Amino acid sequence: MNANSVFNSNLKAAQQPTWPDQGAVDAVVKELATYPPLVFAGECDNLKEKIAQAAAGNAFWLQGGDCAETFVAATADSVRNRIKTILQMAAVLQYFSSLPVVKVGRMAGQFAKPRSNDSETRNGVTLPAYRGDAVNDLEFTKEARTPNPKRLLKVYNTSASTLNLVRAFTQGGFADIRQVHSWNKGFAADARFSARYEEMANEIGRALQFMQSAGVDPEAFKSVDFYSSHEALILEYEKALTRIDSRTGNAYDVSAHFLWIGERTRQLDGAHIDFAEKIHNPTGVKLGPKTTPEEALAIIKKLNPKNEPGRLTFISRMGATLIREKLPPLVEAASKSGASVLWVCDPMHGNTYEAPSGYKTRKFDDVLDEVRGFFEVHKKLGTHPGGIHIELTGDDVTECVGGGDQISHEDLATRYESACDPRLNHTQSLELAFLVAEMLRDHKK
Ligand code: PEP
Ligand code: MN
Repeated sequence: MNANSVFNSNLKAAQQPTWPDQGAVDAVVKELATYPPLVFAGECDNLKEKIAQAAAGNAFWLQGGDCAETFVAATADSVRNRIKTILQMAAVLQYFSSLPVVKVGRMAGQFAKPRSNDSETRNGVTLPAYRGDAVNDLEFTKEARTPNPKRLLKVYNTSASTLNLVRAFTQGGFADIRQVHSWNKGFAADARFSARYEEMANEIGRALQFMQSAGVDPEAFKSVDFYSSHEALILEYEKALTRIDSRTGNAYDVSAHFLWIGERTRQLDGAHIDFAEKIHNPTGVKLGPKTTPEEALAIIKKLNPKNEPGRLTFISRMGATLIREKLPPLVEAASKSGASVLWVCDPMHGNTYEAPSGYKTRKFDDVLDEVRGFFEVHKKLGTHPGGIHIELTGDDVTECVGGGDQISHEDLATRYESACDPRLNHTQSLELAFLVAEMLRDHKK
């Protein structure tokens, strides 16, 4: 069976590029359909089980990476620094909460962006908006900004090479918890968080030695499960990589383990939700402050009618000022319906603003406050604050203001590299992990 026959092709798909030549798109789709899967459906099922554990309160979800990956930044150093940052954050969260941490990269496929405007005007010149490297190039010229479907082939190839390196790092010993010290090396880290991290790493080292002396096989620590995820946005790409799993006869989008549908494309009668409904991967949906409880319930009914644990994750992105008001009715409605849902907090997308210099930024304190609000809501309702979704990089960029090294609006120009939204840098990510770890530990008390 052709996997594409499972989708309803008559529905409207929001946020799709205006490709200049449909014939060229069809040729690319045909080619992509012959490529091998990037992930195995069985891995998606394993992740689903872990999400089910997290939804039940027995694990914590950590998802992080670029807002928009780019082809040029898919280098060994950049991938390694992102992995190290996520591994460090996971170690901190796990150490202080004693909960297993499900590690997921916004990585190896996060190349397409929804935009508020279809076009951008500079000095009287109007060109198509940058929609991510999957579609066009950031450079402001007509040639660069014209959507080019051949880029989708490069998305596949760059995702494959990134994922290959991720797998090498996480299976080959680099992510072994015994390497907890080495993940901190090479970072020009803020002394306070670095010292705190080293202290924790020493404790972990001692605990490992103790376990080893008690006969625990250290080989068990060697490899680590690390999953890939991105927003399922460009449906031609995602559908071309949807295959029928030979074990079960079910459709899986084998471009990543976990896919999510964004705030701008989650229309109940739209093509993205139809797509999410038909694939068997664990799937997320972003929920902004306008979401009503009825809408959340309708999404649950559509995407997880059989209430399969681990299948559905809600990623709320309310903004620090709204989360305490807007999240409770949604969580209450879902709980009352008996649905198994993993609640994840994205404290990034509701807290973006433009600095006086014109840079898109976020305040570290707003990010932190939204996570704090998320924990407060779940404490009150007796539900599990299941995880966090963070835009981050392992590099010392200056894109978000505040945090331990007090990045100011004036500092933003020093090293602003994001192709889209501002990311927490390495120090800010580690600082956030320590603060969230405390919240998680206190929540469990
Ligand atoms: C994103 O995750 O980069 C994004 C665009 O988010 P949202 O759909 O929540 O706006
Ligand atoms: Mn973003």
